Amino acid sequence: MTNRTALLNRAASHATRYLETIADRHVGATATADELRAALGGPLPDTGDREGATIDALAHAAERGTVATQGPRYHGFVVGGSVPAATAADWLVSAWDQNAGVHVLSPLVAVVEDITAGWLKELAGLPAHWSTGFVTGCQGANFTALATARHHVLAAAGWDVEAQGLFGAPPIDVVVSDESHYTIFNALRMLGLGAGRVRRVPTDDQGRMQADALRDSLSIGSGPCIVCAQAGNVNSGAFDPIEAIADAAKTRGAWLHVDGAFGLWAAASPALAYLVRGINGADSVATDAHKWLNVPYDCGLVFTAHTASHRAAMTMAAAYIVETATERDPRDFVPEESRRGRAIPVYAALRSMGRQGVADLVERCCRLATRLANQLRADSNLAVINDVALNQVLVRVTSRPDPDAATRAMIDRLQRDGTCWASGTTWHGMAALRVALSNWSTTEADIDRTGAAIIRCATS
Ligand SMILES: *Cc1c(COP(=O)(O)O)cnc(C)c1O
Repeated sequence: MTNRTALLNRAASHATRYLETIADRHVGATATADELRAALGGPLPDTGDREGATIDALAHAAERGTVATQGPRYHGFVVGGSVPAATAADWLVSAWDQNAGVHVLSPLVAVVEDITAGWLKELAGLPAHWSTGFVTGCQGANFTALATARHHVLAAAGWDVEAQGLFGAPPIDVVVSDESHYTIFNALRMLGLGAGRVRRVPTDDQGRMQADALRDSLSIGSGPCIVCAQAGNVNSGAFDPIEAIADAAKTRGAWLHVDGAFGLWAAASPALAYLVRGINGADSVATDAHKWLNVPYDCGLVFTAHTASHRAAMTMAAAYIVETATERDPRDFVPEESRRGRAIPVYAALRSMGRQGVADLVERCCRLATRLANQLRADSNLAVINDVALNQVLVRVTSRPDPDAATRAMIDRLQRDGTCWASGTTWHGMAALRVALSNWSTTEADIDRTGAAIIRCATS
């Protein structure tokens, strides 16, 4: 056995032991930063350590230094785990070490990206001719979509933003939801569109953009315009009324972008697909594969209805060189050049689950959210403060004189308890625990343990 083979086997044995015990461990990390520094830090060694010892040291530190986001009772931040086929495929990506930027560097990865993009559009109910980019996450997807939007609306006004920049350009009217995710504002900042010069449309009690207010807002002004809506509010899980928003955007001649970081996957379920009705009337859609589709980090996805604009916004070559390549180069649709073959684990997840398996994953998480909400509602100390229409439950301690302080104390106890992990948030001025269900391995028994832990931590 070569040293390389021994080393890979060693890593595999660490990884499998880690995953096989993940359901039983304290869900949060238990090592302090100082403990991790002591275990792994110190000056850069002059001479190399043995490779086996290096891998062992990392694996050992991971036992207490990682958060069990792969486990069934991690419910923070809509993170999702990784289905086994996707984890295994990701190992192959590292072994192959392909550069997925251009077809000629890795025909396999480029073709798998094509196939996977087609499957994803089918699953999400998006037209087959839409363009697709595999980016690092939904932040990258929102950025790419809005860069494409910027190109497209300015080109229509006779302005070449890639060549001329924004100085002297016709102003773009950017309209967002009052509850747009902060990554939308990050993207606007990076694109020179300004996070602070947007117009905000008010939302309802569940955080949905009000379509009437949007229509009013769009009735003033003309010229280039971009509207940002979302499918899946990061707190409540609620969906903006996309069909009505798409109508309003179309009337104004605006570009409509939809951030569906986790909510887009509702489209995979026949029972839930109504939530994203009208999404194929958008101009761009952003989502994450590393959240609810349960593939390893890092994988976001951007889809646009305007392939030429997408390519023009992302590629120097497209603007200056006559296209000669016969095959699609993945880099033409993302802000990066060299990158790993992140379509491979997505392919493995989709092929191993199939359409039915993805629908089951999404529906199961939603059923578990309802089950948890029912348990929490039955406790007189707690109130569920969102409509549990998807996979998110917002719960709050209401039986104390200072509900915000009592809720924060409950969250603190829960995170230290280790049965499960969920994060705190502020929802319409109220402190709340946000529980997101988006892991393939979570069972009803897990939810019952999570529910009991929340109820226990609300009072003890
Ligand atoms: C998580 C999330 C994002 C950001 O996604 P990353 O994968 O963390 O970049 C954007 N929008 C919404 C609604 C999200 O939930």
